[in-house]
Amino acid sequence: MCAMATVRLKPGKERSLARRHPWVYANAIDSVSGAPGNGALVAVRGADRRFLAWAAYSPGSMIRARCWSFEESDRIDADWLLSRIDTAVARRRELQQATNAVRLVFSEADALPGLIVDRYADYLVTQFQAAGIDGHRELLLDALCRCTACVNVFDRSDAAMRAREGLTELGGVLRGAAPPKHVCVREHELRYWVDLRHGHKTGFYIDQRDNRRLVGELVRRLAARLGRAPRVLNCFCYTGGFGIVAAHAGAETVTSVDSSADALELARGNAALNGLGVHALAQDGAGEAPPRASTKVRWEWICADAFEQLRLLRAEGRRFDLIVLDPPKFATNQHQVPHAARAYKDINLSALRLLERGGALLSFSCSGAVGAELFQKIVAGAAIDAGADCYLRARLAAGADHPTLLTHPEGEYLKGLLLERL
Ligand code: SAH
Repeated sequence: MCAMATVRLKPGKERSLARRHPWVYANAIDSVSGAPGNGALVAVRGADRRFLAWAAYSPGSMIRARCWSFEESDRIDADWLLSRIDTAVARRRELQQATNAVRLVFSEADALPGLIVDRYADYLVTQFQAAGIDGHRELLLDALCRCTACVNVFDRSDAAMRAREGLTELGGVLRGAAPPKHVCVREHELRYWVDLRHGHKTGFYIDQRDNRRLVGELVRRLAARLGRAPRVLNCFCYTGGFGIVAAHAGAETVTSVDSSADALELARGNAALNGLGVHALAQDGAGEAPPRASTKVRWEWICADAFEQLRLLRAEGRRFDLIVLDPPKFATNQHQVPHAARAYKDINLSALRLLERGGALLSFSCSGAVGAELFQKIVAGAAIDAGADCYLRARLAAGADHPTLLTHPEGEYLKGLLLERL
């Protein structure tokens, strides 16, 4: 593979690339020579013809070229791609002692723009979401199987994202066997059922691993401080993650709210899988026997709109010692930010009104368009309106397998705040 074509930038537009930002927007381009096809490797040059980067060309996308390397001496060939996969997998080796649900490749952060690879036990789940990366699919799949010793690859590429890149739909089994209805993964001392075919993202919120662990610590700390088991509210619970950890750590009650009945059913299954007070789902493939029930948690599963449910809980006079708010992405672009801001304010205000003094709120936003600073302002506004003085105890983010390149802040989408109510 050698660069057959060149993309020349307009004067001044080389600046972001000089700072190693990996995207070339369509409006930064002056001319394209050599008629590159969709996904072709191009050399990006400044107006003065100086080399800036090797990039993959996406003629249909606003992000017209995605940079793979800023080193002119690099040869973007099969060996280079293999070494990127090898490096990405090696970076997560240590993490895989604690869990077998790991993001192995995170797009730009691993110098493979448009490629996501998550490992769930013996299954790799991929997303090929840019033309450049898609053009090397077979080679990348070979490399992934070799570096991980996995033989099963299931694809969950987003059809809309592929369409924007001029790619036809993908999805389904790419290598090996089809995944069972649910795959069992282990994360620290707990286990979860994951629906690789229909679950959100690639099946599970792998990115919340460290924050799940934090919830366990908070439950133990609160229990010690309060002298009783804490009451936990897990809003937008999906398949139960935060609540399962809270129950395992000794919560008295875990109230889980989600608008999806399917998600709640799997959440119940996850409680059962961990021996936490509900009957096990009849399933195969759970691995070793589940841990012994360690608590007598009381579960409350509520299939409802969280905005309304939070108000209802207040009307019922309910109080909680720990609340998790992990809503879906409220803004997918800048235009939706004002609407998202109102939604974040609403749920945070309602949640803070339910929180006991001394209690903790973990509030998340996975809207990339809502920056960390704005999110904090929104939550601060909610606290004022709720009459809740709070300490900001920690700023939270995705786990180490979702790294953010300092040169690519767009890669950082998940942010959270840990508040303690005074
Ligand atoms: N906290 C979860 C991930 C949350 S994903 C975890 O750690 O696994 C967002 C969840 O919000 C989804 O399960 C979705 O079904 C749910 N959801 C979306 N809109 C909702 C609403 N208005 N009320 C309640 N749940 C909602």
